Amino acid sequence: MKARPPGALRELADEAGARFAGESVRSAVGAGEQVLRWAEQTFGDRWAVTDSMSDTVLAHLAACTTPGVAVIFLDTGYHFPETLGVRDAVSVSYDVRLLNVVAARSVPEQDAEHGPRLYERDPDRCCALRKVEPLDRALEQYDAWAGGARREESPTRSGLPVVGWDTRRNKVKINPLAAWTSADLRAYAAEHDLLLNPLLREGFPSIGCRPCTRRVEPGQDPRSGRWPDRVKTECGIHR
Ligand code: SF4
Repeated sequence: MKARPPGALRELADEAGARFAGESVRSAVGAGEQVLRWAEQTFGDRWAVTDSMSDTVLAHLAACTTPGVAVIFLDTGYHFPETLGVRDAVSVSYDVRLLNVVAARSVPEQDAEHGPRLYERDPDRCCALRKVEPLDRALEQYDAWAGGARREESPTRSGLPVVGWDTRRNKVKINPLAAWTSADLRAYAAEHDLLLNPLLREGFPSIGCRPCTRRVEPGQDPRSGRWPDRVKTECGIHR
C-alpha cells in the first residue's frame, strides 16, 4: 500500500475517530476488534502495533484479528528479564511479526556519553533516547500505529480516543483498548489463556524499565509504581 500524505491521514483519523467513539460506547471490546480490522483494511502493511509485554492482550487481539501484524517492542536495555521472556514467547506463540527495536546507543555507550544512571538524573532524557527516538525511527515506515493505553489507567489518559491524531509524528494513532476496563482485560486474558508477565502477580500492575518501576500495594493507583517519587508519569511516546 502507498504512503498517504499527512492531510489525507488526518481526514481518516477524524472520520474514524468519530465513528469508533460511538462503537466504544456500545462495546469497548467489540470496538477494539473492529478498529484493528479497520486498520488492516485501511493501511495494509503501513501500520504496526506496539506492546510492552505485560498482559499481551493487544498483541493477542491484533494477532487474532489481523494475523501476521507487525508488533513493535521497545527494547530499552533496562527491562526485567521476565518482560524479555514474554516478548520471546509472544514472538513464537502469537501470529505476529515481532520487531525488537533498540536505542541508537547501548546502555554502556549511553553511560559513557551521559554518565551512569541517566534515569536517576534526567529520566525524560533517558526515555527520549531509549524509547521515544527508537519508536519515531521504527514508525517512519508506517502511516498509523496502535498502542495499549487505556482511559482508566490515569487522569492524563481519561480522554483517550479509540482513533486519534499523533500530532508529533503526523500519523494516525489507534488505541484499541481505550475504553477497556481492568475487568475487560482480565476476562479476555482468562478466556484466551494469554501469556502474562509473571510480575503482574507480584505487585507490579504496570511494568516498565526495571530502574523506574516499583511494586505497589493492593488498592494503590496501578501506575504509581512508575517513576515513583517523581512528577513524571509518562515516558513520552504517547504525546
Ligand atoms: S523508563 Fe527509566 S530506564 Fe527506561 S528509558 Fe525511561 S528513564 Fe530510562
